[in-house]
Amino acid sequence: MNSHFPLADKRVLVMGLGRFGGGVGVSRWLAEQGARVTVTDTANAEQLAESVQKLADLGDRITFKLGGHDLADFTACDLLITNPAVDKAKSEFVQAALRAGIPCTSEMNLFLERCRGFTIGVTGSVGKSTTTTLIFEAIKAGLNVQPESNRVFLGGNIGKSLLAELPNIRPQDLIVLELSSFMLEETAHLQWSPNIAVVTNLFPNHLDRHHTMAEYAAIKQNILKFQKPADVAILNNDHDLISRWVHLARGKVIKYTTRGPSTLNLLMPGEHNQSNARAALAALDHLPVAVDRAAAMRAIENFGGLAHRLQIVHATQLAIPGEAPRTLRFYNDSKATSPDASITALKAFAPGAAIFIVGGYDKHIDLSAFEKLLAQRAGGVIGIGQTGQAMVDQVKTAGVQCAGARIAYAQTLQQAMPLAVQWARAVAGDAGSTGEGDRPALIEAIVLSPASASWDQYPNYEARGDLFASLARAGG
Ligand code: ADP
Repeated sequence: MNSHFPLADKRVLVMGLGRFGGGVGVSRWLAEQGARVTVTDTANAEQLAESVQKLADLGDRITFKLGGHDLADFTACDLLITNPAVDKAKSEFVQAALRAGIPCTSEMNLFLERCRGFTIGVTGSVGKSTTTTLIFEAIKAGLNVQPESNRVFLGGNIGKSLLAELPNIRPQDLIVLELSSFMLEETAHLQWSPNIAVVTNLFPNHLDRHHTMAEYAAIKQNILKFQKPADVAILNNDHDLISRWVHLARGKVIKYTTRGPSTLNLLMPGEHNQSNARAALAALDHLPVAVDRAAAMRAIENFGGLAHRLQIVHATQLAIPGEAPRTLRFYNDSKATSPDASITALKAFAPGAAIFIVGGYDKHIDLSAFEKLLAQRAGGVIGIGQTGQAMVDQVKTAGVQCAGARIAYAQTLQQAMPLAVQWARAVAGDAGSTGEGDRPALIEAIVLSPASASWDQYPNYEARGDLFASLARAGG
């Protein structure tokens, strides 16, 4: 592990700079180690302007070869660094480099070879970012803040590159890493697994790259495969397949579950977040250092969710004559660009308790399962964008159970929000009442969970979510 490749004066090729800066951190770090860095990407300089700008101060220590790859760069370098998004098996360029005997690695592997801290890795098909962040926030809140004490770092498939932090990372520090399957494909070359490994779940995902579920699972298992007897595997006992991965563990196994008498008092809604929080708590129990458990718990309970993922963005108290005061909460789930994610959001609220704003860019995917569930569980449905009208029509056809008359197409978020708030303010027995007597007609939440991409009306899902949040704060 420590016999890492010397970098000074070496010709290092970085494949994949990325529009969102994925290759920026590693390119800078390599240049600072004295390597002669070339950065290549299929996107052109204009598309990558923001990332290129971030490296501008390094001048001629970095050469850019953008708008396509040059085979000669791949066979004439001393080391190739591939971005996790590069499918190495399919890239003729990477294959040529490998045939030429060029060593090939990744940013994460460069980091892991040099990292002296205690590592906590999280993987799974969904819930990685949330669980990773919960663990990080809880440790941060629970650690003693004396200068000599342990510190905690966050990295991997989330946040910024940790390479620049290497000089600051000491053996007593804790490193919380979100590990994607693409990263775990590479870490196996180092025979590395984290000291604490958390596995949330496994669903068919990325099968374009990993081909079969078995292959995908085998890659995810790399998080356990090289653990040592003193290490800890934390497995989701509520997920059939993952709960059976006990036999892969090399050290202690801890299983977590949401089934049990108690529910955690989380600001984040939904059973799925209860599960993520249980995973985080299990990790906290096995740290090599003491943390203030009460402070860590408070951090988990008060975490409002990651940006645009069912994140609470505003809450307001409704004081309506003749009614007990109630809180109306606004949740931004703009990152839910597929029906699966929006189904998870729908299940996070009691039937009838939330008005859903749905619809967006038409990817021509099957939305019927989500529409059926909307008809069963939503306390109101407002369609926006390209797919919104058809979704509203389908919900009506499926037979509305909780929304009553609270169903409409409103074209834009600006039109949808006042309508949603008006509905939420209605007293019991108003428009939403189904006449079934025991259905809760009072609305507790307004949720933007489009089940569709944003490109019909917005440059990206972040812009859509930010608008929702500002409208909520302005008019909620
Ligand atoms: P990832 O980083 O694995 O993509 P996130 O934590 O960012 O996962 O969550 C993305 C979405 O996945 C959430 O908005 C929610 O819809 C769903 N999700 C999160 N955690 C879970 C879980 N434990 N089980 C099922 N779905 C989940």
